Amino acid sequence: MAETGTGKAGKKFIGKGTLFVISAPSGAGKTTLCQKLLKNMPGLRLSVSYTTRQPRKGEANDVDYTFVGKRKFMGMIERGEFAEWAAVHGNLYGTSVKRLKKLTAEGYDIILDIDTHGAMQLKSNYENAVYIFILPPSIDALEKRLVNRKTDSEDTIAGRLDNAKTEIASYKDYDYIIINDRIDKAYRELESIIIAAKLRTGNADHNWIKNLTN
Ligand code: 5GP
Repeated sequence: MAETGTGKAGKKFIGKGTLFVISAPSGAGKTTLCQKLLKNMPGLRLSVSYTTRQPRKGEANDVDYTFVGKRKFMGMIERGEFAEWAAVHGNLYGTSVKRLKKLTAEGYDIILDIDTHGAMQLKSNYENAVYIFILPPSIDALEKRLVNRKTDSEDTIAGRLDNAKTEIASYKDYDYIIINDRIDKAYRELESIIIAAKLRTGNADHNWIKNLTN
């Protein structure tokens, strides 16, 4: 069971961009979908999280995660450097406020691949975010994907499946639900949500529209 960090009262904005918060039980295909989005949509950047987890084979520091020790992570919590943080599967994960601000200042919208507890902290603290939940077609399919991935032990997989059930229970807190039964369909749906969010009136170039009629 994950613990959560505490948020401050009063909602904040992170720059002008939109935060796309994507949660899913592990094995639902979230990473594949996010990588495809980042490749196809140049205005999007991934929020690289800090974690105390050990790097897996093929993961690079500051690309997949910034890998830090527990002491450094706890110091960052104390200094209020995280927009949200949570303990997931026994490791700590957090989103740096400074990184979010830097990316939005550069004009990017941001993808945050974070767990449900972290997502709910953001929801109570920040305004400009869209919440998307990705579901597997079944728990069996999820288990198969975790086994085929060959990155986790049997015990870890059992823990991830338990956690998946808890996470799925919070789907109602999200704005959009995608069922990843076919990756191409799920991707199209995810891209549509991002395109639609960017076309919201609040995100329009109001000066440009004003000049259109002057
Ligand atoms: P993994 O260790 O498999 O990469 O990630 C485990 C879980 O941690 C995933 O559900 C992922 O979305 C979540 N996670 C990754 N980064 C963060 C973060 O910065 N904050 C929170 N709350 N969860 C995160």
